Amino acid sequence: MMLAVFPGSFDPPTFGHLNIIERCSRLFDDIDVVVAVNPDKKYLFSAEERLKMLTELTEDFSNVSVHVCNTLISDYCRKVGAKVLLRGIRNTNDFSYEFDLSLINRSLNQQVETLFVPTEQRYFLIRSSSIKELARYGGDISGMVPPIVDKAIKEKYKK
Ligand code: ADP
Repeated sequence: MMLAVFPGSFDPPTFGHLNIIERCSRLFDDIDVVVAVNPDKKYLFSAEERLKMLTELTEDFSNVSVHVCNTLISDYCRKVGAKVLLRGIRNTNDFSYEFDLSLINRSLNQQVETLFVPTEQRYFLIRSSSIKELARYGGDISGMVPPIVDKAIKEKYKK
Protein backbone atom coordinates (compact mmCIF):
# COMPACT_ATOMS: atom_id res chain seq x y z
CA MET A 1 0.00 0.00 0.00
CA MET A 2 1.45 3.35 -1.02
CA LEU A 3 0.76 6.18 1.39
CA ALA A 4 1.75 9.75 0.51
CA VAL A 5 1.89 12.68 2.91
CA PHE A 6 0.98 16.20 1.80
CA PRO A 7 2.09 18.63 4.50
CA GLY A 8 1.52 22.36 4.66
CA SER A 9 0.31 25.32 6.65
CA PHE A 10 -3.00 25.47 4.75
CA ASP A 11 -3.63 28.86 6.34
CA PRO A 12 -6.09 28.85 4.64
CA PRO A 13 -6.64 25.92 2.24
CA THR A 14 -6.98 27.11 -1.38
CA PHE A 15 -8.09 25.75 -4.76
CA GLY A 16 -4.35 25.26 -5.46
CA HIS A 17 -3.97 22.87 -2.50
CA LEU A 18 -7.19 21.03 -3.36
CA ASN A 19 -6.04 20.54 -6.95
CA ILE A 20 -2.84 18.86 -5.75
CA ILE A 21 -4.83 16.67 -3.34
CA GLU A 22 -7.33 15.66 -6.02
CA ARG A 23 -4.68 14.79 -8.61
CA CYS A 24 -2.51 12.87 -6.14
CA SER A 25 -5.47 10.97 -4.72
CA ARG A 26 -5.62 9.23 -8.14
CA LEU A 27 -1.95 8.21 -7.93
CA PHE A 28 -1.64 6.81 -4.40
CA ASP A 29 -3.64 4.39 -2.29
CA ASP A 30 -3.88 6.86 0.56
CA ILE A 31 -3.06 10.50 1.16
CA ASP A 32 -2.49 12.01 4.60
CA VAL A 33 -2.96 15.76 4.40
CA VAL A 34 -0.99 17.09 7.34
CA VAL A 35 -1.65 20.46 8.93
CA ALA A 36 1.67 21.70 10.23
CA VAL A 37 1.90 23.42 13.58
CA ASN A 38 5.03 25.52 13.90
CA PRO A 39 5.21 27.55 17.13
CA ASP A 40 7.44 30.11 15.38
CA LYS A 41 4.79 30.86 12.76
CA LYS A 42 1.80 33.12 13.24
CA TYR A 43 -1.35 31.65 11.73
CA LEU A 44 -4.69 33.28 10.97
CA PHE A 45 -6.53 30.00 11.61
CA SER A 46 -5.86 27.63 14.50
CA ALA A 47 -4.76 24.08 13.74
CA GLU A 48 -8.26 22.86 14.66
CA GLU A 49 -9.88 25.34 12.29
CA ARG A 50 -7.55 24.34 9.42
CA LEU A 51 -8.16 20.66 10.18
CA LYS A 52 -11.93 21.18 10.15
CA MET A 53 -11.94 23.10 6.86
CA LEU A 54 -9.69 20.58 5.10
CA THR A 55 -11.69 17.63 6.42
CA GLU A 56 -14.87 19.14 5.02
CA LEU A 57 -13.21 20.04 1.70
CA THR A 58 -11.81 16.55 1.14
CA GLU A 59 -14.80 14.53 2.33
CA ASP A 60 -15.55 13.32 -1.23
CA PHE A 61 -12.11 11.69 -1.53
CA SER A 62 -12.39 8.37 0.27
CA ASN A 63 -8.61 7.80 0.39
CA VAL A 64 -7.73 11.23 1.82
CA SER A 65 -7.57 11.92 5.55
CA VAL A 66 -6.51 15.05 7.39
CA HIS A 67 -4.24 15.20 10.44
CA VAL A 68 -2.44 17.73 12.61
CA CYS A 69 1.28 17.38 13.26
CA ASN A 70 3.46 19.29 15.67
CA THR A 71 6.61 17.24 15.11
CA LEU A 72 9.08 17.16 12.22
CA ILE A 73 7.35 15.95 9.06
CA SER A 74 10.13 13.39 8.55
CA ASP A 75 9.19 11.90 11.94
CA TYR A 76 5.52 11.94 11.00
CA CYS A 77 6.33 9.99 7.81
CA ARG A 78 8.31 7.45 9.83
CA LYS A 79 5.47 7.06 12.33
CA VAL A 80 2.82 6.34 9.68
CA GLY A 81 5.15 4.43 7.33
CA ALA A 82 4.87 6.91 4.45
CA LYS A 83 7.55 6.79 1.76
CA VAL A 84 6.37 9.77 -0.26
CA LEU A 85 6.21 13.43 0.67
CA LEU A 86 4.23 15.60 -1.77
CA ARG A 87 4.94 19.26 -2.41
CA GLY A 88 3.23 21.54 -4.90
CA ILE A 89 5.37 23.76 -7.12
CA ARG A 90 4.15 27.02 -8.63
CA ASN A 91 7.36 28.51 -10.00
CA THR A 92 11.15 28.42 -9.79
CA ASN A 93 11.13 30.22 -6.42
CA ASP A 94 9.01 27.43 -4.98
CA PHE A 95 11.32 24.92 -6.59
CA SER A 96 14.54 26.27 -5.10
CA TYR A 97 12.99 26.46 -1.63
CA GLU A 98 11.40 23.02 -1.90
CA PHE A 99 14.55 21.48 -3.33
CA ASP A 100 16.57 22.54 -0.27
CA LEU A 101 13.80 21.34 2.02
CA SER A 102 13.71 17.97 0.28
CA LEU A 103 17.42 17.48 0.95
CA ILE A 104 16.94 18.30 4.61
CA ASN A 105 14.03 15.89 4.88
CA ARG A 106 16.02 13.25 3.05
CA SER A 107 18.86 13.61 5.54
CA LEU A 108 16.40 13.20 8.40
CA ASN A 109 14.60 10.19 6.95
CA GLN A 110 16.21 8.14 4.15
CA GLN A 111 13.01 6.16 3.64
CA VAL A 112 11.15 9.14 2.29
CA GLU A 113 11.18 10.58 -1.25
CA THR A 114 9.87 14.07 -1.94
CA LEU A 115 7.81 14.31 -5.12
CA PHE A 116 7.21 17.73 -6.64
CA VAL A 117 3.84 18.24 -8.29
CA PRO A 118 3.57 21.17 -10.68
CA THR A 119 0.53 23.34 -10.21
CA GLU A 120 -2.03 23.74 -12.96
CA GLN A 121 -1.73 27.00 -14.86
CA ARG A 122 -4.95 28.45 -13.53
CA TYR A 123 -3.74 28.06 -9.92
CA PHE A 124 -0.23 29.35 -10.20
CA LEU A 125 -0.96 32.78 -8.73
CA ILE A 126 -2.83 31.37 -5.76
CA ARG A 127 -1.02 31.56 -2.46
CA SER A 128 -2.41 31.63 1.07
CA SER A 129 -0.44 34.73 2.11
CA SER A 130 -1.74 36.87 -0.79
CA ILE A 131 -5.26 35.63 -0.17
CA LYS A 132 -5.12 36.83 3.45
CA GLU A 133 -3.76 40.21 2.39
CA LEU A 134 -6.42 40.62 -0.26
CA ALA A 135 -9.22 39.57 2.06
CA ARG A 136 -8.04 41.91 4.81
CA TYR A 137 -8.65 44.87 2.49
CA GLY A 138 -11.96 43.57 1.21
CA GLY A 139 -10.69 42.11 -2.10
CA ASP A 140 -12.62 39.37 -3.88
CA ILE A 141 -11.01 35.98 -3.17
CA SER A 142 -13.93 33.82 -4.30
CA GLY A 143 -12.00 32.55 -7.34
CA MET A 144 -9.13 31.33 -5.15
CA VAL A 145 -10.76 29.53 -2.23
CA PRO A 146 -13.87 27.40 -1.72
CA PRO A 147 -16.98 29.17 -0.31
CA ILE A 148 -16.49 27.82 3.26
CA VAL A 149 -12.98 29.31 3.36
CA ASP A 150 -14.15 32.60 1.87
CA LYS A 151 -16.79 32.82 4.60
CA ALA A 152 -14.35 31.87 7.38
CA ILE A 153 -11.81 34.52 6.30
CA LYS A 154 -14.48 37.21 6.14
CA GLU A 155 -15.54 36.29 9.66
CA LYS A 156 -11.94 36.50 10.93
CA TYR A 157 -11.42 39.97 9.52
CA LYS A 158 -14.80 41.21 10.70
CA LYS A 159 -13.62 40.72 14.29
P1 ADP B 1 3.93 25.75 3.60
O1 ADP B 1 3.94 26.76 4.71
O2 ADP B 1 4.31 24.38 4.02
O3 ADP B 1 4.64 26.18 2.34
P2 ADP B 1 1.41 26.08 2.24
O4 ADP B 1 0.09 25.87 2.86
O5 ADP B 1 1.73 27.46 1.75
O6 ADP B 1 2.40 25.56 3.31
O7 ADP B 1 1.60 25.08 1.03
C1 ADP B 1 1.56 23.69 1.20
C2 ADP B 1 2.03 23.03 -0.08
O8 ADP B 1 1.13 23.36 -1.13
C3 ADP B 1 3.40 23.50 -0.55
O9 ADP B 1 4.05 22.42 -1.17
C4 ADP B 1 3.07 24.57 -1.56
O10 ADP B 1 4.12 24.73 -2.51
C5 ADP B 1 1.83 23.97 -2.19
N1 ADP B 1 0.98 24.99 -2.79
C6 ADP B 1 0.52 26.13 -2.25
N2 ADP B 1 -0.23 26.80 -3.12
C7 ADP B 1 -0.26 26.08 -4.27
C8 ADP B 1 -0.84 26.25 -5.57
N3 ADP B 1 -1.57 27.33 -5.88
N4 ADP B 1 -0.64 25.28 -6.48
C9 ADP B 1 0.10 24.20 -6.19
N5 ADP B 1 0.70 23.97 -5.00
C10 ADP B 1 0.52 24.91 -4.05
